[in-house]
Amino acid sequence: MRKADTTIKYVEPFSIAEEAGLEAGDKLVKINGHEFHDILEYRYLISEYEITIEVEKKDGAVEIITIESNYEDLGIEFREGLIDKAQSCTNKCIFCFIDQLPKGMRETVYFKDDDTRLSFLQGNYVTLTNMSDEEIDRLIAMHVSPINVSVHTTNPELRCKMLNNRFAGKCFEIMKKFKANGIQMNCQIVLCPDINDKSELERSLRDMASLYPYVNSISVVPVGLTAYREGLYPLKPFNSETSAETIDQVEKIQNEFLEKLGTRLVYLSDEFYVNAGREVPEADSYEGFPQIENGVGLMASMREEFDSAIKLIPDKKFSRHVVAATGEIAYDFIKSLAERIEKKANGVKIDVYAIKNNFFGGGVTVSGLVTGGDIIDQLKDKPKGDILAIPQSMLRDGEDIFLDDLTVDNVEKALGMPIVPIMNDGYEFIEKLIGCELEF
Ligand code: SF4
Repeated sequence: MRKADTTIKYVEPFSIAEEAGLEAGDKLVKINGHEFHDILEYRYLISEYEITIEVEKKDGAVEIITIESNYEDLGIEFREGLIDKAQSCTNKCIFCFIDQLPKGMRETVYFKDDDTRLSFLQGNYVTLTNMSDEEIDRLIAMHVSPINVSVHTTNPELRCKMLNNRFAGKCFEIMKKFKANGIQMNCQIVLCPDINDKSELERSLRDMASLYPYVNSISVVPVGLTAYREGLYPLKPFNSETSAETIDQVEKIQNEFLEKLGTRLVYLSDEFYVNAGREVPEADSYEGFPQIENGVGLMASMREEFDSAIKLIPDKKFSRHVVAATGEIAYDFIKSLAERIEKKANGVKIDVYAIKNNFFGGGVTVSGLVTGGDIIDQLKDKPKGDILAIPQSMLRDGEDIFLDDLTVDNVEKALGMPIVPIMNDGYEFIEKLIGCELEF
């Protein structure tokens, strides 16, 4: 077992922990007489009506406190978020995006996590390759659910090859064990042409569907290839033809699953539709968007909200010039929404620009990987607007920083426009572009 740091970093105001007298710097030593070694064990132990905790105060005094928590969270954060260090992956996947990053980025970007605790707490996807039988039994005993699994293929030999790990072939067996113990799974497949597509994809989807309803959603996303692939496994990107073939194949399987299981179960990411030159499916086809956190169904979700929100634009005269930056993949989509706003909001002018991703090069076209440097280079000679609208996903989570470490402030100063980040939300999109609230 790894070394645990159970020192409290933060106590939420008005929380159960604050009421019990816990403070930042205290160490939570035991819960109901048990030591704990990670955030999962902590969560498991506190899920009681009443708990007794042993606390080592900052001055070294030890206190025993009984708390009636009523199954609720205590409201504390630990110095180490997971209580011990995040587990890194033991694979060398042939399609790994981190292996294709340019040199010189912030060190944390290169960290390859593969930690079931992060899957449970933050929705990260894990490969299940670095877990001992004991760890799997521990997850089952604590009923950690759901777990997000990067499956890629259910063919054991192919999975060992794709993940470059001779222990990678047991994934589907572990998933069966999870099912037998009532653990839910969301699954993803990174699809690589001529590797795990076509008949292999069919096999994987059918195998996973056999675990329904414990496998409760599957996303399929195309492999992302940057220009930095020297010495790496030769892979090719999806083109319009192979994207269209994949859509046809998956739609057929979706229809079959819908008839047999009552759900499509599997969802393709937007890139396939854009690459194939096809409309993304209607929002209903995503059945509540179970994989939206994984970027699947973003356009359909946005379009559905937009269609309702556009009716709420106030009937008045506007005077506003917006510059909007987006990744190449979303350009046509964002442009079509912008044109609809221009028609409805008299006096709003929106210039949409597709920012080519020179930082990563290759075929990287998604908005979330556009850097501040590329925005500056490609917009510096363009007419200025009252604002520069960007998708929130261009910034690091919770920070005003682009992937290349340029700050929002740096880009604003370079371009002479205030930046307005916008969530993937049709209402917010319209409000921020027209510069006023919608009339509900
Ligand atoms: S699991 Fe594979 S794709 Fe993920 S970080 Fe590790 S090597 Fe890269």
